[in-house]
Amino acid sequence: MRAKVLRSEKLEVVSHLAASISHEIRNPMTTTKGFLQLLQGSKQEGKNLEYIKLALDELNRAEGIVRDYLTFAKPTHERMETMDLKEQTEKVISILRPLANMNSVRLDQRLKSVPITGDQSLFQQCILNLLKNSIEAMPNGGKLTITIGSSDQLAIIDIQDTGFGMTDEQMRRLGEPYFTTKDQKGTGLGMMVVFSVIEAMKGKIHVESEQGKGTRFVITIPLDT
Ligand code: ADP
Ligand code: MG
Repeated sequence: MRAKVLRSEKLEVVSHLAASISHEIRNPMTTTKGFLQLLQGSKQEGKNLEYIKLALDELNRAEGIVRDYLTFAKPTHERMETMDLKEQTEKVISILRPLANMNSVRLDQRLKSVPITGDQSLFQQCILNLLKNSIEAMPNGGKLTITIGSSDQLAIIDIQDTGFGMTDEQMRRLGEPYFTTKDQKGTGLGMMVVFSVIEAMKGKIHVESEQGKGTRFVITIPLDT
């Protein structure tokens, strides 16, 4: 029991630290990227264009990592608070709608209001990482079904996609830091964040997946009693 407590305390310190520096990291990255793009658009000689492209690729990778960790991080210290699962999920969906449209992914939302306790920004990051993976698994279109409900003791988040699915090996490795099948485009950090956030909320993650058919994540979180 004591080990669990220590772990969530640690997570809180880490997330606070990350939130405080996220601002300081994002701004210089945006500026640097802007100047590199300017250089790329101007007349370049010899190997310069190649160097600029390499620098931009690396910067994009760094941005991906920040996105998987710190999309919602705020510099203020946030306490655990009561929030509505439906409202939080809707916020994340509105951010992802353009990506879904780009991939021709239809969204089917069946959301019920369920109050849970947690850190808002971490929870939104968790849902974002899950939904983003689902959309990315359907590059040629598909359907993403998001159901939020509750039973007596549990909040239930059910995310189902009709994407390319995973092998058993890939399912086993889910959440392992840097495990990605997306080469340069992936960070392999998104699911690690999902597992830590759900664990801190004392929840459970159940995964089903079939190659070529799709993937389903069912997350249960104990309700406040
Ligand atoms: P990334 O998305 O950067 O690759 P993640 O930690 O978010 O890193 O995911 C790790 C890997 O898990 C992905 O590269 C992918 O292979 C697999 N994965 C996660 N969610 C899904 C999904 N819904 N459908 C298919 N594969 C998935
Ligand atoms: Mg991901």
